[in-house]
Amino acid sequence: MDDDSFDPRSWAKPQQGAAKPQQDTAPAAIPAAAQPAESPPPASESGSAASSLPEAWRDIGTAFAPKPDAATHSAAKPAVAATSKPTRTASGMSPLLPLLLSLALLIGGGLAAWMTRHEVKRPAAPQQAVAEAPAAPEVPPSPGEVERSLVLAGVSDIVGALTAAGVSPQEAQAAAKAAAQVLAKPGEIHATLSLMPQGKAFLLQGLKASYADGSGAVVTRDSAGAFSGAAVAAELTQQIKVLRGEIDSESFYTSAVSAGVIDTLIPEFINAFTYDFNLASEINPGDTFEVAWAQSVNAQGGAVGQPQLLFASLTTPQKSLALYRFVSPDGKVAWYDGNGASTQRGLMRTPVDGARITSKFGMRFHPVLHYTRLHAGVDFGVPVGTPVYAAAAGVVIGATPTGCGGNMVVIQHDNGWVTRYFHLSHYAEGLHEGQRVSQGYTVGLSGTTGSCTTGPHLHFELRIGGEPVDPLSVKTDDSERKKLDGTSIQAFMHQRDRVDVARAKQAM
Ligand SMILES: [Zn+2]
Repeated sequence: MDDDSFDPRSWAKPQQGAAKPQQDTAPAAIPAAAQPAESPPPASESGSAASSLPEAWRDIGTAFAPKPDAATHSAAKPAVAATSKPTRTASGMSPLLPLLLSLALLIGGGLAAWMTRHEVKRPAAPQQAVAEAPAAPEVPPSPGEVERSLVLAGVSDIVGALTAAGVSPQEAQAAAKAAAQVLAKPGEIHATLSLMPQGKAFLLQGLKASYADGSGAVVTRDSAGAFSGAAVAAELTQQIKVLRGEIDSESFYTSAVSAGVIDTLIPEFINAFTYDFNLASEINPGDTFEVAWAQSVNAQGGAVGQPQLLFASLTTPQKSLALYRFVSPDGKVAWYDGNGASTQRGLMRTPVDGARITSKFGMRFHPVLHYTRLHAGVDFGVPVGTPVYAAAAGVVIGATPTGCGGNMVVIQHDNGWVTRYFHLSHYAEGLHEGQRVSQGYTVGLSGTTGSCTTGPHLHFELRIGGEPVDPLSVKTDDSERKKLDGTSIQAFMHQRDRVDVARAKQAM
């Protein structure tokens, strides 16, 4: 049941240098309406699931990263935490790097410049309005209307900003109330005030307030002096960015990050190849990959929301696969080849997201039982609480605790094969014998229950005719591969072409 799970040798070296894209990411502007509307995959929502993935990739890197060392071990851990942030920073960056960078700048005499830049970039303190455009409200240049632009931490700051600009408290309250009725979201607001000088004070003519995505409110003053707010829709366009890279001597993860791929996209890239590549054994240095993703941007070109992976390809001397992510009209997210054939097959090779293989199928010396015997399944190292999926459609024939294997689920599939899942921390609510489950149904959450385990992992078994078989190498029946048709294939082709145009434009 158990594993060699947490062997530091399975952690590849962290990224040392700065991330350097292999090519420019000239954006291709696409109307936002064309982008699929759906929620992000569970992996990116759950911190634990998402943070486990880089580990998986480092594990994959062990095939060609044989040198363990202490620095590798300690530096790998902060990298995991870093992946929960949507940054483009190389996650495996050494914690010493900022220090070294500072030192280098100091030597170059650039420290003063560096400090100045930081001063400029320091974010505005909350509750404080910061003038973006130079304005002199005390001495208006002309008796005409003046505009002031401000950045506010939130809706509640509007009143203070208006009174600070010279608007009477009563009018400030009324205008802020009108704005608040439309501005429902939290978040920073860019506000533009139209002010008419009136003696030493200012009469508010109106204000525009917008969030980063361009949505917001316009508040106007009617002839009777009352304020009313109207909503403004978001103005977003979608850009498709394309990056290509080569597998380095360490791991796919480090290769992707150094090519400039946003690290939060890597989990879904892995998922795309669940059915087709054994990523632990089938990729090697020099193999190539390509990634395309969509990013919504506002009118100023700033990124809004999370990037969404659209395309993933892997090329090795043995095989090459280019996959497109597509949301079918029924809302199902899946990956398809260029002809619209789904990647889904008879059996999921990896029934858990973010897995790294910590112990393979075959004879081995058992770490808990202390004798050599067949390891009848595959161990996937995942944090406790990671969803465990039915590897194929079938009927639950067991959902019971066992001594050695802890909480177990057994599924009999339609072709007679049986899969078993061990060490679960929880069963899915209501899961019971005789229950029909579809492929990908969450049967429980991973854990470390049972006496034959030394750490959190899923032990996954496949039995054919009662005999244990390696689920990673078994030949599956691909006749179930579905091809999109009707309006789905039309929509798919449209999206595929859009991605391919971006890929061609951003070719080397
Ligand atoms: Zn095991």
